[in-house]
Parts: sequence; C-alpha cells; structure tokens
Amino acid sequence: MSATEQMIFCLSCGSTNRVGPGKSLSSARCGRCGKGLATPEPAEVTADQLVSLQSKDTGAFVLDVWAPWCGPCRMMAPHYEAAAAKFNGEVRFFKLNTDNHQTAAAQLQIRGVPTLIGWKGGRQVAHQAGAQTGRALETWIQTAFNVSSPTN
Ligand SMILES: [Zn+2]
Repeated sequence: MSATEQMIFCLSCGSTNRVGPGKSLSSARCGRCGKGLATPEPAEVTADQLVSLQSKDTGAFVLDVWAPWCGPCRMMAPHYEAAAAKFNGEVRFFKLNTDNHQTAAAQLQIRGVPTLIGWKGGRQVAHQAGAQTGRALETWIQTAFNVSSPTN
C-alpha cells in the first residue's frame, strides 16, 4: 500500500490527481484548477462529492456525519477543526450535513450523529459513532489512519 501512488480527488473542480506514495498533501495542488488538495479546515461535501471520494480517492480522509440540530455535533466541531489543522497534509477532514443529504447519510449506514468514518486506500478503515474531543479524537485519527503525532 505505501508504495502505491495516491489518487486524490479535487473538491474544487472534480478532477482526480496522482500524488506520489506517502507524500504529504500540505503543499500539493490540483493539476487542473491549481487549488490546494489538502483541507486545513473541514470542508463540507455534497452527496455527489462523497460518491466521487469513495469511488476515486485513495488518500486518507475522514468524514464527520453531522446535523445542525445535534448538540454533541456542535460540541465536537471545534475539536474536529483543531484536528484538521494539526493533521493537515496527512488526513483530509470533510463534513456531511445529514439534513441536506439524507439519502447519502442513509447509505453510510450510520445509527446516529455524529459519526466519524475514515477511508484510506479506497476502502473504509474506521467507523465511530458518537462525539469525540481533544486528545481522544487525535488518538482515534492516528489509529484509524496509522499516522504519527500531529505535525504542528
Ligand atoms: Zn481541481
């Protein structure tokens, strides 16, 4: 797996980029539109973008499946943002608003919100129900994606 180049989907233009194996995405840019491929802040995705991520993207990314009315979701949000900044370049952080994308949320087979789902190498590697904060969230990310301590 580590010797395989990564296929990274660009949220901005929808093209798929080839990135060298194990290479950080912190300075990687889309070959078509020039936008950064990493997301230092969690990015909201649409149902269509999620389908593309699941089917085309082989990099490491995590999805926070959330809803605006969900208290624990709102509680976790700043921690999720902090983790996105810390793991920038190693893991991309996305969010799916279940109120806007109920069908997509149902297809993820979640039992409630928030739920965290991780993908790496083109397959799901982690699925965690319930809010996680602080160090517990960082440890979960490290374990799910086999990445070392945050880079900053
Ligand atoms: Zn692009």
